[in-house]
Amino acid sequence: MNSHVKTDAAPIPFIDVAAQRARLGTRIDDAVARVLNHCRFVNGPEVTELEQKLAAFAGAKHAISCSSGTDALAMILMAWGVKPGDAVFCPSFTFCATAEVVPWVGATAVFVDVLEDTFNMDPRSLEAAIKVAKDKGLTPKVVVPVDLFGQPADMDAIQAIADANGLKVLCDTAQGFGATWNGKRTGSFGDATATSFFPAKPLGCFGDGGAVFTDDDDLVPVLKSVREHGQGVDKYENVRIGMTGRLDTIQAAILLEKLSIFEDEIAARQRVAERYNAALADVCTVPAVDPRATSIWAQYTIRLPHGVRDGLGAALQKEGVPTAVYYRIPMHRQPAYAHFPAAGNGLPVCEKLAGEVISLPMHAYLDEAAQDRVIAAVRRALGA
Ligand SMILES: *Cc1c(COP(=O)(O)O)cnc(C)c1O
Repeated sequence: MNSHVKTDAAPIPFIDVAAQRARLGTRIDDAVARVLNHCRFVNGPEVTELEQKLAAFAGAKHAISCSSGTDALAMILMAWGVKPGDAVFCPSFTFCATAEVVPWVGATAVFVDVLEDTFNMDPRSLEAAIKVAKDKGLTPKVVVPVDLFGQPADMDAIQAIADANGLKVLCDTAQGFGATWNGKRTGSFGDATATSFFPAKPLGCFGDGGAVFTDDDDLVPVLKSVREHGQGVDKYENVRIGMTGRLDTIQAAILLEKLSIFEDEIAARQRVAERYNAALADVCTVPAVDPRATSIWAQYTIRLPHGVRDGLGAALQKEGVPTAVYYRIPMHRQPAYAHFPAAGNGLPVCEKLAGEVISLPMHAYLDEAAQDRVIAAVRRALGA
């Protein structure tokens, strides 16, 4: 064993849920105990309180909590009545849920390439994809910009294309909740926004959860109906096809406590990213943030020439530094999605990034000593 490589140190957690719980002391336990005592496990008072606080945080008129980020995306498509023959434009370099909900409503996902520097939807490729959809006889209906790794997509360009083509904008901010575009938080732009509270997301609960944001007053009762089996005025009247889409009261109670320290965690994540940027920019391509955006750093994702990436992951693992590759296979090459159309050029940037990206440990409780361990291990592995 190489004597200067510290393999004896405890592995660094990729994300650290325990550190956050320790910081909150008994607050989460107390919040859960309150729900156990009042027993309103479904639609309890914490759910309404959370929805109000989430809307205020995002700067949106309405927040509708729900069972997951995936269900948030699906509820919006269902509430809009997206249907067979409609085209929904999704980046191919994303988590599968972005596109998965499209066939749920019988519509067709059309895959769009991304930009190499921000990993987010390429507006020019979106225009090409709209043309492909029309040529196939589909009706362009919805575009889903994804805030990949925590940075909002180029909303100025995408909104302009959506306006010119009569598309609704469904923002997928499952990774970007808390980030900003032109000084506004995600959730406050587009026609509706979906986010996730999966534990590994920047604002996570202790299970599955999500929310929809919108300023559209008319959409709110429809979303709430979809969330409750398509109920009408009466609970046992069903006016549309819906789902069981509610957020558990216990998760809402947990999220209320976590939301109260989220601003502070956002600042901590930003400090980690800045230190990584300064220490690694000479040995790899560090993430670029658009001057109009701030990132919530859901992931800190670097790029290395094809082939070097996998060697780095293996070398870091030996030093107790975990890494992850998001995403090794772009959506348009996934077996379940390969039959969907894509913008006409084979999506070369998605293909390229899939071979180059690797994400380093990133969370609000990663102290400077742990950051330095990550930095030293990366530099050593790259021979710097
Ligand atoms: C996590 C994620 C989702 C889905 O959220 P869940 O709460 O896990 O259902 C959707 N889109 C993106 C981009 C995600 O990262």
